[in-house]
Amino acid sequence: MRTVSVRVPAKINLALGVGGVREDGFHPLATVYQAVDLYDEVRATANDTGEVTVETTSDVPGAETEASLVPRGRDNLAVRAALALREQTGVEAGVDLVIRKAIPVAGGMAGGSADAAATLVACNDVWGLGWSRHELEPVAAGLGSDVPFLLHGGNAIGGGRGELVSPVLARGSYHWVVAVSGIGLSTASVYAEFDRLNADRELATPEVPDALLAALRSGDAVALGAALSNDLTEAALSLRPDLAQTLEVGVEAGALGALVSGSGPTCVFLAADEQQSLDIAIALAGTGRCADVVQSIGPVPGVRVV
Ligand code: ATP
Repeated sequence: MRTVSVRVPAKINLALGVGGVREDGFHPLATVYQAVDLYDEVRATANDTGEVTVETTSDVPGAETEASLVPRGRDNLAVRAALALREQTGVEAGVDLVIRKAIPVAGGMAGGSADAAATLVACNDVWGLGWSRHELEPVAAGLGSDVPFLLHGGNAIGGGRGELVSPVLARGSYHWVVAVSGIGLSTASVYAEFDRLNADRELATPEVPDALLAALRSGDAVALGAALSNDLTEAALSLRPDLAQTLEVGVEAGALGALVSGSGPTCVFLAADEQQSLDIAIALAGTGRCADVVQSIGPVPGVRVV
């Protein structure tokens, strides 16, 4: 039976504009994604029992407990991805999946979505489907808002609820410091808090900031740092006030910009260069507040067979 390993990056939302909740329960988003070099790996082996199984491991120090938080069975987004693809194609074979997690669980870096994107590419391969990435996109969009972006990686604008991705003209490579919190924050609870805080406010249709796109076009890290934005910050900080101090420590250590990543609680910091990235990482690690502090580079490509 054929086996393939694929790796998939995490994402950062350089800008995350959020509008008022739609009738279908989703929020309209205007976001700019960047894929960063923090990877989960999915190994897929086709089987002829027709079953879809999943096992999660981690060789990142301290992340074993994280891996144990990942659901087995149909609640796992990777399993859902395999089942969705099988339903679309009528394939009878099954697949055994082993996920090696390095992307923080419930961290706002789209770890589950990343595994779903990786599984689509892996199953496409081991089941011999021959679908293009473009053909996989609608299945990806049905699985979650961030899944289509992770098929492609790089930098992209996300519209709709995030699933409508279009490329961004961008230059440069950016140094990030990722501060991982020990306790996850559920995306649903952050959006619920966002709705509560904005109940009496008139929310404009979200738009991607021009200054951020201009910064990416020119590869200007200082301008990018100043243009980073996230409309979920207030809600994430309301649920986790301690994150404000984490953000402050990174800024004091010289970060060009600081962000709650997506719905949090992971916080990310843009550094001017490798040395500054190290300085920020040391300052954050020194607080004793972070479960892990990782230096990362973006953009990187999306799912790749390894
Ligand atoms: P996002 O940034 O897309 O909002 P997130 O990074 O905050 O997501 P995930 O790591 O994707 O969060 O996990 C959210 C929840 O999804 C977890 O608490 C877990 O129960 C569930 N989950 C399902 N499949 C997976 C998976 N393969 N990896 C991680 N979590 C998964």
